[in-house]
Amino acid sequence: MTVTTIDAKYLGHAEFVSTYLLQHGERAAFIETANAAAVPRMLEALNEQGMSPEQVDYVIITHVHLDHAGGAADLMKACPNATLLAHPNAAKHAIDPSKLVRSATAVYGETLFAEMYGTIDPIPEDRVRIMGDDEVLDWNGRELRFLHTRGHANHHFCIHDPASRSVFTGDAFGLVYPRLQDRGLFALPSTSPTDFDAAAAKDSVDRIVATGAETAYLTHSGGVTDLAEVAALLHPQLDRYGAIVEEAFASDREGDAIDAFCREQVDALFSDLFKAHGVDSANTRTTLAMDMNLNGQGIAAAVKKKRFKAGRG
Ligand SMILES: [Zn+2]
Repeated sequence: MTVTTIDAKYLGHAEFVSTYLLQHGERAAFIETANAAAVPRMLEALNEQGMSPEQVDYVIITHVHLDHAGGAADLMKACPNATLLAHPNAAKHAIDPSKLVRSATAVYGETLFAEMYGTIDPIPEDRVRIMGDDEVLDWNGRELRFLHTRGHANHHFCIHDPASRSVFTGDAFGLVYPRLQDRGLFALPSTSPTDFDAAAAKDSVDRIVATGAETAYLTHSGGVTDLAEVAALLHPQLDRYGAIVEEAFASDREGDAIDAFCREQVDALFSDLFKAHGVDSANTRTTLAMDMNLNGQGIAAAVKKKRFKAGRG
């Protein structure tokens, strides 16, 4: 029941984005695809296990954020017998990525987007299979169970693999960067745009722990074995993010003032986190600069969405 962790070397960074290779008898499956630049590395890992692209049955994406699904089209082209397994809300973006590309371009800007992802091709509809909540895939006798896990994204699922006693958590079980673990476990939630929901995120964390899996394989980055401890670190942070959303929602701030407020509050949250963990250095801030920025943007997006739903948008 081998699980191979592949370091995608995403944007040139080590241990920042992981993808996973599962082997079952003579067959293989990939979980997560990082971006197109990582695909040759994934095929190399397959080759190192003595397997060919023809032996890949599944390419599984936890959600369509492009550090998870950006390489899916290229990987599917390379693996002619593979079916893409995706959340119902993710599948449509894999088949027609135009809207996804537009919204990611809005987050990153055109230049950075092109550098990070190149072009994102559509995946033929007949190669995509939707997995429902709690649906079990029978992979030649090995069962993979799909858990819809909202909170980070509405198109997110996790994959429970009882055979390897593991759960593949995408972005639903936070970020645990190996380089920040030297002073004890350091985990933080990702609240990046556009679907953040604190209560749903907490439920998803609990659902992951409740699988009873021994290892959670995070996309950012690698396997963690102390699931209860990770959950205990994520919960209070999610509460605080939720409180920031509520405070901004209830205030009379509008437009850019919402963004500024959320950015300030998220920066303060990170500062407290760094202090509590004894990692308050320029180095840590550099490592987490993109996450701080994305979390701030995601909180502001959550406020605006909540206003819109309440008829105040
Ligand atoms: Zn994500």
